[in-house]
Amino acid sequence: MNLTEITLKETKEGLKKGKFSLQDVVTAFKNRIKEKNKEINAVISVVSDFRENKNLPLYGAVFVVKDNILVKNEKCTAGSKMLEHYIAPFDATVISKIKDAGGVIIGKGNMDEFAMGSSTESSAFGATKNPLSLSKVPGGSSGGPAAALASNMCNTAIGSDTGGSIRQPAAFCGVVGMKPTYGTVSRNGLISMSSSLDQIGPLTKTVEDAETIFNVIKGKDKYDSTTVDIHKKGKDKLRIGIPKEYFVDGLDDRIKKTIDKAIEKITVNLEEISLPYTEYALPAYYIIMPSEISSNLARFDGMRYGLEKGRPASDSILDAYLKNRGDSFGREVKRRIALGTFSLSSGYHDAYYLQAQKVRSLIFEDFQKAFKKVDLILTPTTPNLPFNIGEKIDNPVSMYLSDIFTVTANLAGLPAISLPCGEIDGFSVGAQLIAPRFCEEDLFNGAKMLEKIWWK
Ligand code: GLN
Repeated sequence: MNLTEITLKETKEGLKKGKFSLQDVVTAFKNRIKEKNKEINAVISVVSDFRENKNLPLYGAVFVVKDNILVKNEKCTAGSKMLEHYIAPFDATVISKIKDAGGVIIGKGNMDEFAMGSSTESSAFGATKNPLSLSKVPGGSSGGPAAALASNMCNTAIGSDTGGSIRQPAAFCGVVGMKPTYGTVSRNGLISMSSSLDQIGPLTKTVEDAETIFNVIKGKDKYDSTTVDIHKKGKDKLRIGIPKEYFVDGLDDRIKKTIDKAIEKITVNLEEISLPYTEYALPAYYIIMPSEISSNLARFDGMRYGLEKGRPASDSILDAYLKNRGDSFGREVKRRIALGTFSLSSGYHDAYYLQAQKVRSLIFEDFQKAFKKVDLILTPTTPNLPFNIGEKIDNPVSMYLSDIFTVTANLAGLPAISLPCGEIDGFSVGAQLIAPRFCEEDLFNGAKMLEKIWWK
């Protein structure tokens, strides 16, 4: 049996029966990283963490964690030169929960700089490649964790999702990726991108494994005041809605065909629904997200956080800022700080930021209306198949369009999951399920039902 190829559930069963030891599992993944990572560049630092805690829920889980989540005494770079030498002083809440539940952290995953991107090409530590096809991007920004999992360097991974960064790379790499309801999982110890949208969630090989991890990392945390302990009970019968606004021009024909085929196999009640404000989601996201970024990233000035290249003592304060921020941030980060600063500036605030917040409310209301008729909503995860490395890096707008089907769940704070629903021309195609807030149980049950139908 190849220990790197099996699911978390199978690993747990094997350990229980004494077929192999945890040391065997960890060694197998370490060897796999040595063998494969040069080519794929999914893991940017290897972590030596090991604990034998039999009978705990994550005994046997070996994680690659996105490098914007703090693991005590390990480097945490957020994919940026700015934090190249930063060592995490404490464990993020999700990491303490994982460790307390018996999980092992084996590496930190590559990512787009400060989680801004859809391809993992904006990392200061080189692009990650898609294990299914090395000339293609793995998606982003959690491309490292997704590619590490898909190339069997770990059996579970943790990412963060602000506009699709767990679900889109999961779809591109042919694995499962889940974004919880906003406020369900603590963001303490996550390097913030856009605080009203960010959530941490699992990437796994099966829906059941994602559920196992979600159940460990969820819960109210005194270090994140947006967290709550609300979990709605699952329903017996699930009705699924298909929103017509997600099947429009711009959706790759091959994805459309694969999703249509997958939908034909579904036997439960399906209903066409409408989410009329969908077309305004991406423009609203690209106002709200950079506005929050421009504020959150102000702390990286070489004085509070980040590389110190200039000093107010010897340079003027402006020169110190220019040296510290100018040299260490990449192009995409600078672009978003500029966009956000502009849309929050006096005279423009009402026209951009305030307007975008109104759109955000309308998008939430769209979903609320739809969820009166159906329990879950099914959509494609991405409009396109994995693209070539280098293809979109100089065309930000075309890169931003990758997020068109995923940002709505972040804007409305809803839980969503991407799972493979079929294959075409050697690519895996991801389908996304979205549920009402706190209805993770329905989300997982629906996804497990679809997994059974689609993966036979
Ligand atoms: N690709 C999206 C962006 O660049 C999503 C990023 C994310 O979810 N962290 O904003």
